Amino acid sequence: MSDPKPQTAAPPMMRIASPFAGMDDCVSENVSLAQHTWLGLGGPARWFIRPRNLEELQEATRRCAENAIAIYVLGLGADVLVNDVGVNGAVFRFSEPFWQRVEVEKNLVHVGAGVEMQKLLTNMVRSGLGGIECLAGIPGTIGGGIRMNAGGKFGDLGESVFRVAVMDSGGTVFERTKDDLVFEYRHSNISAPFILDATLELEEEDPEQILRKMREILMFKRTTQPLNTRNAGCIFKNPRGLSAGALIDQAGLKGFRVGGAEVSSKHANFIIARPGCLADDVMKLMRIIREKVFEKNGILLESEVQIWP
Ligand SMILES: Cc1cc2nc3c(=O)[nH]c(=O)nc-3n(C[C@H](O)[C@H](O)[C@H](O)COP(=O)(O)OP(=O)(O)OC[C@H]3O[C@@H](n4cnc5c(N)ncnc54)[C@H](O)[C@@H]3O)c2cc1C
Repeated sequence: MSDPKPQTAAPPMMRIASPFAGMDDCVSENVSLAQHTWLGLGGPARWFIRPRNLEELQEATRRCAENAIAIYVLGLGADVLVNDVGVNGAVFRFSEPFWQRVEVEKNLVHVGAGVEMQKLLTNMVRSGLGGIECLAGIPGTIGGGIRMNAGGKFGDLGESVFRVAVMDSGGTVFERTKDDLVFEYRHSNISAPFILDATLELEEEDPEQILRKMREILMFKRTTQPLNTRNAGCIFKNPRGLSAGALIDQAGLKGFRVGGAEVSSKHANFIIARPGCLADDVMKLMRIIREKVFEKNGILLESEVQIWP
């Protein structure tokens, strides 16, 4: 008779250590991004990180690099379309008080990346500092506004940017100054993934005058844009010298719908997410718009909204 086989104990249940172990205070898992975007669409972020200071940001970024986790940075989500599956990566958000600082030093304003542009505007009216009224009615944070060079026919944020502090994916912080920054239509030449804070150079101005300019801009927006809807602003960039909205209108697409996604009848470059809308509906509608505009005018529209992933 052969010896009985030695009994091997069942292996203990394996627990894979979280890449962000010990960082529970600022890292959450599987957070819906729909609740963090203006379109209110899309799946969850595998990791959602709200660093409370620079050290936490650097540590979380280091862990992303070690574990090959893709990095995304979210402002107010006013220009982001997240797909329905979600983002298999780390989404950083500068919502904690550390990133919300506003300090006025004569006509220079130091402002954290997480500061909401509309709140900053109100603050600047109180301080009697003008120059960024062009941001009236544009939702978003300073970080998102600088990345996208937010603005329009009344001017853009880049015109007032004096200095920006950024951080690369290795955790190194450095400064970019006015002389090497280039701001173009809905684009800046900042390639570092994180914009941390900025200094804006504004002009002393009568608060009443600033308010008057803001009201004019808001009035214009109220009459031309579907403001009380779920949307992401202009979906496509204007081709040079042309209006994307006019091209979409000429293609007969105002009011056109795919599922819950609808081309606004007020401004054809806005897509409205109706109840039940999926991110996929918006993407299909965007494809149709591009095809129809190309068929009619031979122009290929470029997306302004940032599609994740
Ligand atoms: C109703 C409505 C009207 C709008 N009107 C206008 C308009 O007139 N003009 C205009 O320009 N835009 C407009 N937009 C678009 C949007 O408001 C702007 O693009 C705004 O700058 C987005 O800011 P955000 O903080 O929401 O950025 P998000 O939408 O969250 O992100 C936009 C981009 O910026 C990046 N980003 C965000 N924060 C940071 C950071 N701290 N560091 C590095 N990268 C970052 C993101 O990764 C992403 O690539 C409108 C949107 C809506 C919903």
